Amino acid sequence: MSRFIPLSVPNLKGNELKYVTDAVETEWVSTAGPYVNDFEKKIAEYVHVPAAVSCQNGTSALHISLMLMGVTREDAVIVPTLTFIAAVNPVKYIGAEPVFMDCDDSLCMDPVKLKKYCETECDYVDGKLIDRATGRHVKAMVVVHVFGNMADMVSILPIARQYNIKVVEDATEALGTYYTEGEYKGKYAGTMGDIGAYSFNGNKIITTGGGGMIVSNDEALLAKAKHLTTQAKADQVNFIHDDIGYNYRMTNLQAAMGLAQLEQLEDFIAIKTRNYNMYKDALDGVDGMSVIPFREGIRTNYWFYSVLFEEGDHSRDDLIKKLSDNDIQSRPIWGLISDQLPYEGSRTFELEKAPWYWRRVVNVPCSTNLTAEDCERVIEVIIND
Ligand SMILES: *Cc1c(COP(=O)(O)O)cnc(C)c1O
Repeated sequence: MSRFIPLSVPNLKGNELKYVTDAVETEWVSTAGPYVNDFEKKIAEYVHVPAAVSCQNGTSALHISLMLMGVTREDAVIVPTLTFIAAVNPVKYIGAEPVFMDCDDSLCMDPVKLKKYCETECDYVDGKLIDRATGRHVKAMVVVHVFGNMADMVSILPIARQYNIKVVEDATEALGTYYTEGEYKGKYAGTMGDIGAYSFNGNKIITTGGGGMIVSNDEALLAKAKHLTTQAKADQVNFIHDDIGYNYRMTNLQAAMGLAQLEQLEDFIAIKTRNYNMYKDALDGVDGMSVIPFREGIRTNYWFYSVLFEEGDHSRDDLIKKLSDNDIQSRPIWGLISDQLPYEGSRTFELEKAPWYWRRVVNVPCSTNLTAEDCERVIEVIIND
């Protein structure tokens, strides 16, 4: 029996145990403690923003982000249909309604359709984009940087500006991805819109077990984020609260692990790059298969690898079964969110590519623990019957 190869698991071989042990020994284990502030500072430095605000997870970071964009239950928020459902659920937490948008060939939001939706389905009145079918104010959009790719921010941001739509970047999968050329050269995923969110869930490129982070270039906004994530305490001593706050702050234990993980992020990306290239070299063109490329002009973190079956010689489910029979974990990409039970009847706009890709893509193992030999074994199973 060969060793089981999981899809995407944590890699904790750096200073994790040392820092977490220190947190335990000093008995700073909860939402106060030096590691939380230090981790926030180091993340902010890494992506070149003035500050960052830690959260319990990526989902809570997105929830707070949408609230800070002023989204209310009367509003609509443009979201992708092809992504993890946590990118969209926070819209519903607030009571607002999603408008599901298609993807382009990068699997991220299609800017052409986004523009067409704004132009043909909405009226722009007094600085507000109003969806004619629902009468709702389209106040914000959630742009997801899918699998560590960069959404087409060069095209999306001008549309957002033109129609006064706030941009929440869901960069939960894309920590470390940045533009290497063009007008956003040097800008990291998560830092170009109005506000951005990262996740440190166990399957993400670095993990705190569970955790998230809010970033922005607007320090006043970040101060509000910290306020809301810490129960909106207006007076630290007398328990005076000036808003409905949340208990969303990261613990010192989580941040201790995060700090150790961040030290290794660039090494993780180097491993992910090598393994991606191995898959790409071996699989592109074999039996109508290809490994979906990342956008030109960026340094991607290569978080997840997507094998595409253009024709379907190997069908998606056959491949998943074959890999599973060989102790290798893989999965289809997410079922479209607009097709999920809680979103039945939601507003959608010309969904074409998302269902096409949904039927044809399989994610294959991409952990940073994966050796070159592991990748060769996965490739062999994929290619040989
Ligand atoms: C992981 C993920 C989230 C949520 O992050 P959690 O830390 O798991 O709450 C949100 N959006 C996308 C696209 C994700 O992949």
